Amino acid sequence: MAQIEAEFDLVIAGGGAIGSTLALALAKLGQYRIGVIESSESQLPPSNAFDTRVIALAHQSYQFLTTLLADEYPLLGTDIKHIHVSDRGHLGQCQLHHDEYRVPALGKVVEINHLGERLYQQVANHSAIQWFRPAHISKLDYHSDTVDITLDGQSQVISTRLLVITEGGNSSTRQLAGFEWQTKAYGQSALIANVALDSPHQHWAYERFTENGPLALLPMDACGPHAGYYSLVWTIHPEQQEDYLAMPRPALLRRLQQEFGYRAGLFKDISQPVCYPLTLSSSDTLTRHRTVILGNAAQTLHPIAGQGMNLGLRDVQTLVAQLSAPLNHHDPGSYRCLDTYARQRCDDRRKTMNLTDGLVGVFSNSQQPLVFGRNAGLMSMALMPELRAKLAMQAMGAQQQENIDGIL
Ligand SMILES: Cc1cc2nc3c(=O)[nH]c(=O)nc-3n(C[C@H](O)[C@H](O)[C@H](O)COP(=O)(O)OP(=O)(O)OC[C@H]3O[C@@H](n4cnc5c(N)ncnc54)[C@H](O)[C@@H]3O)c2cc1C
Repeated sequence: MAQIEAEFDLVIAGGGAIGSTLALALAKLGQYRIGVIESSESQLPPSNAFDTRVIALAHQSYQFLTTLLADEYPLLGTDIKHIHVSDRGHLGQCQLHHDEYRVPALGKVVEINHLGERLYQQVANHSAIQWFRPAHISKLDYHSDTVDITLDGQSQVISTRLLVITEGGNSSTRQLAGFEWQTKAYGQSALIANVALDSPHQHWAYERFTENGPLALLPMDACGPHAGYYSLVWTIHPEQQEDYLAMPRPALLRRLQQEFGYRAGLFKDISQPVCYPLTLSSSDTLTRHRTVILGNAAQTLHPIAGQGMNLGLRDVQTLVAQLSAPLNHHDPGSYRCLDTYARQRCDDRRKTMNLTDGLVGVFSNSQQPLVFGRNAGLMSMALMPELRAKLAMQAMGAQQQENIDGIL
């Protein structure tokens, strides 16, 4: 039997956005010894999961991260003060404004790279956290009170009371731990790039539904070189991917202008685009014996509604709330603790996955009754403040507020 080289209360497999956020939040509780296993070699930011992507964070998610990272440098982000939702070639449209809901912003646009750097500054040398990198888990041995973890197929074995899997959508430990993973491919890819327009964004975000799927523009100005730019998330057919990636930029800009129209102005420039395949994937359950799964490793969503990271951050907040209860300090991997966590996450997770999947279905479809229905829906939202309010609450992450208030 291999010798146990280190013992932890919690081991987090995957040090991306969700894993690093969790590690920091738990380290701040001051109760636990934490190990983090990260497969990527790069030292800064914590892993290559932090790419050029920008993400729209709900007001509540941004507040949580700002409180967590609290130091003299704020987490940079661009306010989303207004959202314009429209359907290409049809009348339906709807607008949301922050002042209608008496909040400074409906959400924030944050560069994931910048978030990674800010997290790394605090998790890299925290005394409660030990990093194993580059490393991955090759074997798990479950005992009643612990899980023994073999790293990289070598004889190095560490032991933990609770294993947390945050390895993203392609997690290999998820399979080792026995979670079932279901995937629904949408037959769509997301083309991501930064674009410059001829007029300033004035804190508008746009979501436009086209016959190929949604196209979103998020305002961004916080991080230097992209000042005045928007971040583009453009849903395309996978067959178009190679053409679009190889297309000369003026031609790509013309194509984009044709799809989006002139509502936000004239597209002037576009950065080198990258593409991601779009799926809805989820694990059958959130917990197994002494194991819990969070973030994209638990559910990977279509970015249509900008919910993946927000949902993952709510996973983190709920788990941290559980583990901050004195009842769980002596055994963070107990059945009671994990069962409570899974029950608390069930509703929000199901609703957010259904909402995202439903939006993809309704807004990527050109069948006449659906086109009529969604236009009627957008128009009634424009006319009826209470319907608009529901959409705004989702954008702000407000319906989950009661679960997470006061954790940190
Ligand atoms: C185009 C696009 C736009 C998006 N826009 C938004 C948005 O506007 N709003 C929003 O809320 N969400 C958005 N999302 C979703 C959001 O980006 C993800 O939900 C979030 O980044 C997931 O973080 P994670 O830490 O769970 O996973 P990841 O970021 O995938 O991190 C996983 C980490 O685990 C490591 N790892 C992987 N395998 C192993 C292993 N075997 N052993 C050890 N380590 C391993 C990886 O190196 C990585 O560091 C978007 C996603 C896409 C694709």
